[in-house]
Amino acid sequence: MRQSSYFAPTIKENPAEAQVVSHRLMLRSGMIRQVTSGVYNYLPLGLKVLQKIENIVREEMNASGAQEILMPMVQPLEIWKETGRDDKYGPELLRLKDRHDRDFCLGPTHEEVITDLVRNNVQSYKQLPFMLYQIQNKFRDEVRPRFGLMRGREFLMKDCYSFDVSVEKAKDSYEIMQKAYCRIFDRLGLDWRMVDADSGEIGGDFSHEFHVLASTGEDTLIFDTEGEYAVNVEKHDADNCSVPAERLKEAKGIEVGHIFLLKDAYSAPMSAEVLSDEGKNITIQMGCYGIGVSRIMAAAIEQNHDENGIIWPEQLAPFAIHLINLRGKDEECAAACDKLYADLKAQGHDVLYDDREAGAGQKFADADLIGCPWQCTIGPRGLKNGEAEWKNRRTGETVNLPLGELPQTLGSKAA
Ligand code: ATP
Ligand code: MG
Repeated sequence: MRQSSYFAPTIKENPAEAQVVSHRLMLRSGMIRQVTSGVYNYLPLGLKVLQKIENIVREEMNASGAQEILMPMVQPLEIWKETGRDDKYGPELLRLKDRHDRDFCLGPTHEEVITDLVRNNVQSYKQLPFMLYQIQNKFRDEVRPRFGLMRGREFLMKDCYSFDVSVEKAKDSYEIMQKAYCRIFDRLGLDWRMVDADSGEIGGDFSHEFHVLASTGEDTLIFDTEGEYAVNVEKHDADNCSVPAERLKEAKGIEVGHIFLLKDAYSAPMSAEVLSDEGKNITIQMGCYGIGVSRIMAAAIEQNHDENGIIWPEQLAPFAIHLINLRGKDEECAAACDKLYADLKAQGHDVLYDDREAGAGQKFADADLIGCPWQCTIGPRGLKNGEAEWKNRRTGETVNLPLGELPQTLGSKAA
């Protein structure tokens, strides 16, 4: 992508409204722009990262056997009355009326819609189990939308739901999802912990949260530095903890995923039933599994940045390589850059090519800000020796290589 015509308006100064680093850097690098409180436009750079996260989540959901569907954002309030959540959910639920004075809400979550879908279309135990998921925008009228994508009002979530004939089988589905979540957060390349968690508003009694460790996290976690034990302090019972105190560490976490065994919390009030093999009506047992896709983008930056900008984990980077032409007006430089750009693309690399008419200082600053894993700079001096300079954004190390030769770690990823 040629940066001269790429819609990524960068900002030099820190925007006053942004309190946390991910929000500042996403605004400054031209990834997002606010439309109104807690509601954002995703610009091309931001959308690219969001889609990379989405793809990893989608691949692992599909691999675990869940089937993708898409439910609407607008939901009739009637089904929320069936579960009593029209009252319980409170003012976070954005309500609206249509022209016939009928009540609706914007979906903050989809248990009611999916339970209604399943009860109307499944009759026999033979049709179970299955898992359905979607990747879709949610709306929650949060009291304090803040920190950019960390706590938005409209945000992107992956929500999955499992349907089984018994609590025992529902626990099997829960475990399949739990494993899928571990694979997802490993693949995202983030430092994360799974913790025992309170089940909060959604209900049920079997629940885990997934947290990305970062000092700006709103939750406090306690975990075993040598083992798997980890809890959210909201639930931590110090007397029952078998891990020696000196091995425990406290850290802040950003909740990026939450899974619940719901059992019949929704299926009972909504009478979602099937006929058992003995011909009796039995209530379907459910689980629900959420991932904050857009929040992950912010959490990744909270964990991966320095004073100059973002340092993307390779899996999430909008582009693998940022190619910088130091001297836009120099014909030889431009020709060498154009050729390398074409070659890298032909090798399958995703390249952002800074072909703008701007000073070297601005180009380097923007490249560090945007945070692609590799910067490749071509200038008149290097060109004399037939070389380009490669900089590793994370380590800051630079190496001069003959034009067309790639750093080893990058080269091995090609084709
Ligand atoms: P929180 O305690 O942070 O409000 P929650 O318990 O309300 O989260 P869930 O209902 O479990 O969240 O939603 C699933 C996931 O959606 C969360 O783990 C989180 O990653 C994400 N999420 C929830 N609320 C928001 C929000 N306002 N903005 C961005 N992501 C969110
Ligand atoms: Mg919430």
